[in-house]
Amino acid sequence: MAVQAISTISETLASNRTSIGALLELIAQRQTFLVTSHARPDGDALGSALGLMHLLDGMGKQVTVAFDDPIPAIYAWMPGVERIQRTLPDVPDAAIVLECDRVERTGFTLKAFTAMQPSLTINIDHHLSGRPFADFNWIDPEACAVGAMIYDLAVASGAKITPAMATCLYTAVLTDTGSFTYPSTVASTFALAEHLVESGADPNTIARKVYFSNRAAKIRALSVALATMKIESGVAWACITVEQMQQTGAVVEDCEGIVNYLIGIGEVEVAVFFRELEPDPAQTAPPGGQFRLSLRSKGKVDVAEVAAHFGGGGHREASGCTVEGPLETAVSRLMAELCELGVR
Ligand code: 5GP
Repeated sequence: MAVQAISTISETLASNRTSIGALLELIAQRQTFLVTSHARPDGDALGSALGLMHLLDGMGKQVTVAFDDPIPAIYAWMPGVERIQRTLPDVPDAAIVLECDRVERTGFTLKAFTAMQPSLTINIDHHLSGRPFADFNWIDPEACAVGAMIYDLAVASGAKITPAMATCLYTAVLTDTGSFTYPSTVASTFALAEHLVESGADPNTIARKVYFSNRAAKIRALSVALATMKIESGVAWACITVEQMQQTGAVVEDCEGIVNYLIGIGEVEVAVFFRELEPDPAQTAPPGGQFRLSLRSKGKVDVAEVAAHFGGGGHREASGCTVEGPLETAVSRLMAELCELGVR
């Protein structure tokens, strides 16, 4: 088995081009692939996975795309989405994990993943908190989306970017750059977008599907959550409980993006959205429950560091983690960590 393990992110950055070449070689030597990405998939997780699926299809490979969680309605139209399955395949030649810092972040257990017995594991990620957990690791924190890395892979392979591939990769880049607004958006991002549009991605249709197709329950949940908003020393936070989600008819995917309203406030440097988690029937729930945190920063504060303190991760400007409740305790632990970092 030809395996290249890259141990540090700086080493990875320096060897970006080498990584693409080595990865294409590893792909050429194999026939069956699993492609997966993180739990509660977002536009980059789905767009990069489906974009890679189309690329591998074009190379004549056999591809299974598997996600542990259901596909959010705003992404259910993406070309090839009907091929996504919820279970892992048997013994693929290679398992490609996108946007994850460890196997468990896919939502599949390590046990289930190992039982699949992939002969090679490949990790492609763009998070600063990315870790070299696989046999082959390509981590580029400068990439604006994993979708952009898959685009580079496709271009390096000499493949034609089909309209289906372009649509998936454009969706990945659009959503993971916050509609081309995050600091990761640079001149080459627009060059990439231009090429994807020329190759068949339709920006207006994609924007309508992703941003203007929300369920009414999402807007009801948004109003309930924003009513809880507090702002203190440049930090804004808001929350939603399981009970409130039930009352509004909201599901987990309806809570995506609520945090962006908080970071949109002028005097706010850091925003945090707390979503209470449904107790897992398979596990003993902590007495105060658990909260899923979505963190955003305007850049002065590294919220990946804050999330890492609680066992999560992400980017400097956008990160996530899980914290034990009750809510008041979760809020004060978060505030204490922000104090520690000199934020408040
Ligand atoms: P969101 O708040 O949208 O769920 O996540 C923001 C960013 O943080 C995304 O890039 C996401 O992949 C990353 N992220 C969220 N939760 C976790 C986590 O538990 N672990 C890691 N490593 N990254 C996370």
